[in-house]
Amino acid sequence: MVDCVFCRIVSRESPADIAYEDDDVLAFKDLYPKAPVHFLIIPKRHIESVARLEPGDTAVMGRCVQTARVLAEAAGYAERGYRLSCNTGPEGGQVVYHVHFHLMAGRRT
Ligand code: AMP
Ligand code: ZN
Repeated sequence: MVDCVFCRIVSRESPADIAYEDDDVLAFKDLYPKAPVHFLIIPKRHIESVARLEPGDTAVMGRCVQTARVLAEAAGYAERGYRLSCNTGPEGGQVVYHVHFHLMAGRRT
């Protein structure tokens, strides 16, 4: 078992401000927001990073993107737009090695 901060959020061993949940996907507010709207969207199953994606991960990654769309629309940014990003690996700025999308809105970056 890996000791993973996002897996602990999935299992409710660590707190988070959860915005969306289904059987496979969880979305919660970033603890250190870098924009007025800043959610993290993750597959519940531990996948290290985009660099470790396997063919069987495609569906859940797509559902993460769809969740981003729903959250962005609910926050009122459907037309103004938003940033969806996925830092990958050391030079990609990834700090937490449980794959996640950042959804940021409300500030031009
Ligand atoms: P990254 O650099 O893409 O790996 O981003 C990791 C993100 O996770 C950062 O934006 C952190 O602020 C955020 N983060 C780390 N720990 C937590 C936590 N316990 N709850 C919510 N967000 C977190
Ligand atoms: Zn994990």
